[in-house]
Amino acid sequence: MPNKDPEKRKEQALRSYHKHRDEILKRRRKYYKEHTKEIQQKHRDKDNRLYQRILAHYGAKCKLCGATNVKFGIDHIGGINNGSPKCGVKLWYYLIRNNFPPEFRLLCTRCNLVDGIIRSYPLLGLKGIDELLELKRRCDGERK
Ligand SMILES: [Zn+2]
Repeated sequence: MPNKDPEKRKEQALRSYHKHRDEILKRRRKYYKEHTKEIQQKHRDKDNRLYQRILAHYGAKCKLCGATNVKFGIDHIGGINNGSPKCGVKLWYYLIRNNFPPEFRLLCTRCNLVDGIIRSYPLLGLKGIDELLELKRRCDGERK
């Protein structure tokens, strides 16, 4: 009969787990081996749903060049400085959990790559692609 006290129930479950740990792990490994493809597909489907939520919120369009139907990267506007994950599914979860913070945007892989290069090249003294584009806008304005 299960214990009514939730703390004691947790303790019992933990004790039972440690007692049968090897069989449990063996069973899990066997299950994974037999169902690898469907488990991996399930993960891919879940990742895809997360990605679609991100696209739906930030707009499936590069914020700089306007490209659509391309692979997007999530850009930390102004660089990574708020302790958020750098990329990948962890970042997607972070965005969803934090109700899609405005300091992020979607960039196509090309714009994102150029932004990264500009940031990593100290001789330019630029904080990223936005600063470069701002300079270009000013230059274009002066030429007219
Ligand atoms: Zn772009």
